[in-house]
Amino acid sequence: NDEEASARAAAASADRGGSTIFDKIIAKEIPSTIVYEDEKVLAFKDINPQAPVHVLVIPKYRDALTQLSKAEPRHSEILGNLLYAAKIVAEKEGILDGFRVVINDGPSACQSVYHLHLHVLGGRQMAWPPG
Ligand code: C5P
Repeated sequence: NDEEASARAAAASADRGGSTIFDKIIAKEIPSTIVYEDEKVLAFKDINPQAPVHVLVIPKYRDALTQLSKAEPRHSEILGNLLYAAKIVAEKEGILDGFRVVINDGPSACQSVYHLHLHVLGGRQMAWPPG
């Protein structure tokens, strides 16, 4: 469908290095609806939600990662922080009975923003397998 095609096009043309729109969200130069924040991670509502609850969880620092496939041993702590923040988000959003955490990595997975992010999705019955 159209939405899938546009996601693929955005992923194919995404800038895979440098700063991203998420840096502006972290700096609060672009407004977002923040669900959770601490010194290391920021969680905010996705502007194009794919479920009643759709929150992105991102590391706040540039030394962090563009994508999971670039992770090195020094990133293991922030990766753990992000996953734990996903649980806090699910709790805050009232979806602890069932939610999904997704990382899109690279063009074939439709990654469109090259600042590592976890999608936390829920509030409806999720299908499996995913598209
Ligand atoms: O995994 P992927 O890179 O495709 O996800 C990027 C996500 O960032 C999309 O779900 C998109 O809706 C979201 N986004 C956002 N606010 C922006 C730009 C993108 O929530 N300003």
